Amino acid sequence: MKDGGRKQGAMSPCAACKHLRRRCAQDCVFAPYFPADEPHKFASVHKVFGASNVNKMLQELPEYQRSDAVSSMVYEANARVRDPVYGCVGAISSLQQQVDVLRTQLALAQTEVVHMRMQQVSSTSSDKLKPVSAGFNSSSQNLLSSPSSRLAKSLLAMDMVVDQPNNGETLWSC
Ligand SMILES: [Zn+2]
Repeated sequence: MKDGGRKQGAMSPCAACKHLRRRCAQDCVFAPYFPADEPHKFASVHKVFGASNVNKMLQELPEYQRSDAVSSMVYEANARVRDPVYGCVGAISSLQQQVDVLRTQLALAQTEVVHMRMQQVSSTSSDKLKPVSAGFNSSSQNLLSSPSSRLAKSLLAMDMVVDQPNNGETLWSC
């Protein structure tokens, strides 16, 4: 009598109903988005938002938007579990900082390019004017270019510090 609604009583409950230890109805709102083989998805969403709130949020949305809403809630919940203070905002602000650092690096590199082009122009024009003193010109150019090559090296070093693949991986693997 209890399982009268189910044609095949062997059908397993969705991850949400299993977690909540309740009977999974045929029209269960969670079932399409929380399959039994992914129990961790509902566990973190339940911990952060609460089952009734998730239920309410899904009911308020048209069906075609529910899958995206669940992905977003799972992402937010995982971020909140990992970082109880900042949640998603922690990931966003850390990425924004990376963007700022990279913009600064880009500006430095562009300045460097302009600087090097100017050096090139001035050295070729002086070569044309005084071909006899070419030896002197090239040695003075070496003196000028050494600090800029040091800057280029420090930029490369900065690049390695900023690029943190492990950090990025943990931020996005939800
Ligand atoms: Zn269910």
